Amino acid sequence: TALFDSLTEQKPDQLLELIAKFAADPRSGKVDLGVGVYRDETGRTPVMKAVKAAEHYLWETQESKSYIGPEGDPAFLRMLALEVFGERHAGKPVAGIQTPGGTGALRLAAELLSLDKRRKIWIGTPTWVNHQAIFASVGLQIGTYRFFDIGTQTALVDEMLTTLRNAAPGDAVLLQASCHNPTGAGLSRQNWQDIAAIIADKGLLPLFDSAYQGLGHGLVEDAAGMMSVIEAVGEAMVAVSCSKSFSLYRERTGAAYLFGDLQASLNKGVGNLASHARTSYSMPPAHGAAIVAAILQDPSRRQTWVDELNEMRIRITDIRRAAAEAFGQFRPELAGIGSQEGMFSLLPISPENARRLRAEHGIYMPDSGRINVAGMRVEDVASVAERIGPYLA
Ligand code: PMP
Repeated sequence: TALFDSLTEQKPDQLLELIAKFAADPRSGKVDLGVGVYRDETGRTPVMKAVKAAEHYLWETQESKSYIGPEGDPAFLRMLALEVFGERHAGKPVAGIQTPGGTGALRLAAELLSLDKRRKIWIGTPTWVNHQAIFASVGLQIGTYRFFDIGTQTALVDEMLTTLRNAAPGDAVLLQASCHNPTGAGLSRQNWQDIAAIIADKGLLPLFDSAYQGLGHGLVEDAAGMMSVIEAVGEAMVAVSCSKSFSLYRERTGAAYLFGDLQASLNKGVGNLASHARTSYSMPPAHGAAIVAAILQDPSRRQTWVDELNEMRIRITDIRRAAAEAFGQFRPELAGIGSQEGMFSLLPISPENARRLRAEHGIYMPDSGRINVAGMRVEDVASVAERIGPYLA
């Protein structure tokens, strides 16, 4: 009868464990390449100036914290859609619901997809560690294909296209819009066109995970591949996270959007997402979304945000350039880090050596070998690479 006694012990999240171990490490030369948040050159993850300005504005003008509803803030949804999808939004009707972060959006999308028990969702591996767990938690069937080869640091686009060609009509396919976590691998315009053609031809349903817009090549550029697919297909879903692009991590800010041909069907879709929200968390936290709306509705705050995001992107690009040179000296293929996008790259390293790097050198990365390049200062890249080099596989 003892419920809690009978439970299976759950493994703690490795990245959260790493944070604690890193904090407890007294060595001065320690380097945290583990945690998945942006860091500036002083190692901090600051509140953006545009966010502070919006919070100030909200403090002065917000008159009530009464409930809004499961769909969240309509102004946030409208302004964010404009930013992510552009004015034309692929020439298709779109409808959305505010969610607790990108994770909440993925979970709601998963609930809809799981209504058809024959449907599979196809996921390229490796991917963000939570993806498979989210889809498994709603009982969705998961199919995987190899997306990336660590040795050559290249995306296995042909394996992906073959998998999609063999998928059943109605199957879903998860695609990261840009700045792939954990590989940083980008797709060419041609790759996206090939993907779009197969998805349209086979009647597949794309679910985009857009969690790093603006940190790859720019706000518009990072959405271009996704928009070309949405334009070509019947229906699509998009999970947007504002955690990285607005540095709002703990405010749990995101949205799920649906694209299709009929506004009435989209509204029904959002109604279904809202009903899942209602039985799970009732309604999303308001503060982060109010901040995003206040930024995007005000040209001067929006410009401040765009400038800050650009600064972050340029810093990441600078680190990547230095890392390509430094790691490339140990493995020529690792020069590929320079043309990858976003915060993450995947090093060829054994779990054993990842542990040894932590113990012997105070260099922290998860056993998978994923590194957050923003965890380094440009001027430290060479020395960090010197220490990691001998441990590479
Ligand atoms: N998708 C990807 C690819 C991610 O890396 C993350 C966060 N690390 C998320 C979604 C979810 O972000 P959040 O729920 O914090 O908005």
